[in-house]
Amino acid sequence: MNSESNAPGPRAGTVILGAGLTGLSCAVHLDDAPYRLIERSDGVGGLARTHRRPHGFLCDGTGHWLHLRQDWTKALVRRLLGDSLTARARRARVFSQGVYTEYPFQANTYGLPKEVIEACLTGFIKARYEEQRPEPTNYAEWVRKEFGEGISTHFMFPYNRKIYGVPLETLAADFAAKYIPRPSLEDVVRGAIGRSREALGYNATFVYPTHGGIGALSEALHANAKRRAEFHRTPQRIDLSTRSLRLDGGEEVPFGDLVSTIPLPTLVELLVAGCPTSVPSMVVDAARRLRANTVLYFDIALKGAPKANQDHHWIYVPEPEFPFYRVGSYSAVEPSLAPPGHRSYYVEIGHENDHIEPSRLEQPVLDGLKKLGIVERDEDVLFMIPNVLSPAYVLFDDAYADARRTILDWLETERVISVGRYGRWQYNAMEDALLEGREAAERILARTRSPSA
Ligand SMILES: Cc1cc2nc3c(=O)[nH]c(=O)nc-3n(C[C@H](O)[C@H](O)[C@H](O)COP(=O)(O)OP(=O)(O)OC[C@H]3O[C@@H](n4cnc5c(N)ncnc54)[C@H](O)[C@@H]3O)c2cc1C
Repeated sequence: MNSESNAPGPRAGTVILGAGLTGLSCAVHLDDAPYRLIERSDGVGGLARTHRRPHGFLCDGTGHWLHLRQDWTKALVRRLLGDSLTARARRARVFSQGVYTEYPFQANTYGLPKEVIEACLTGFIKARYEEQRPEPTNYAEWVRKEFGEGISTHFMFPYNRKIYGVPLETLAADFAAKYIPRPSLEDVVRGAIGRSREALGYNATFVYPTHGGIGALSEALHANAKRRAEFHRTPQRIDLSTRSLRLDGGEEVPFGDLVSTIPLPTLVELLVAGCPTSVPSMVVDAARRLRANTVLYFDIALKGAPKANQDHHWIYVPEPEFPFYRVGSYSAVEPSLAPPGHRSYYVEIGHENDHIEPSRLEQPVLDGLKKLGIVERDEDVLFMIPNVLSPAYVLFDDAYADARRTILDWLETERVISVGRYGRWQYNAMEDALLEGREAAERILARTRSPSA
């Protein structure tokens, strides 16, 4: 289908689907080139959006903390948010065996029962120096080879099972290696005797706005874009043979370039709806094989300031008796997100699919928060608002790499740029979204300046 008829009309600009950080970054970096930014919801930001809740609380879409590594993104975010951006040192904990320990678990077992520390320490030493395990073929094997039996049993297996909602044997070996701190033997030993040296992992410090939550970043990007996003607009079909898409309401929108940040399987569905014969069956099959989990999270508002020992930014909760894998506090990171004398939390629950009944989970969540010492009395709870993220975490199973590549390679030949967390069907962070949006814009600008490219 990559034929002459696909050539964009002289005036057809770019259509960007989705006004999350990727779509917004693309819009901002298209400079004066014409585009339309199509968004199905009523605001910008996607996952990086801040919601106004009752009583003056502001809640993000679970914790959204900025871990910026590249000078370019640091400068961009600083330019957009100015003095409102401040650095924070992570205050993260793990709750298991009835006690709070430092994060990451694997390098901070001090405080746990002695037999747990012993199992973690000996398991780690055996995994590193004694056992000759074969090359891991799945995530469970990777975890066991990397951390040993004790750390796997007491943290890695139960925690990861809860977040992804699927057996770890069904996930690829090292898909999460980039995000999991891998301590040295010295770190593990020091952490077992209470002498940890420094915070480990990619998120030991982060930056966050002092006003408006993470949504302030999305709003600032939008304010810097040449054209406004169009809200409550959803494409019904996309026809590559005419290079146009139909929006709900019937409007036909021609496009030269199409930048899609909506979930990859949805994009393929829209392309099939537009012109079934234009989409190869192997692409349709591949889209059916892509899987992601669902995250249900509750925004919870409580009366009263946090107690001195309860000011953690977030807490990892591996044990199966708790329905959630993590609890974070918006107001512990940024007090202005809650009215004075109050505090706010998000509680995250992973699920294999989106068949979830939030009302069934309310009481178990409250019971869990009481065990953690976060909620004392029911009457302190001002609200508990359920939200569903679906897709949330892409599942890196056996089908993943091949299916994703099949679709993305084909889209490339059709001059469709699919980017962003769900556009490329990947695990990424806000910094990546900003970068990918810019790269998409640069590709389009390069093509416009040199049409033969
Ligand atoms: C639970 C969770 C916690 C996270 N925490 C962090 C963190 O602490 N730090 C960090 O850096 N990153 C974090 N991330 C990752 C971060 O949210 C993403 O990398 C980033 O926001 C992705 O932006 P995006 O624009 O690619 O996608 P999205 O934010 O998903 O934006 C896509 C946009 O497309 C719109 N859309 C969808 N379908 C359609 C359609 N059919 N038609 C029109 N519009 C459509 C959506 O409404 C949305 O606005 C987290 C992600 C999750 C799931």
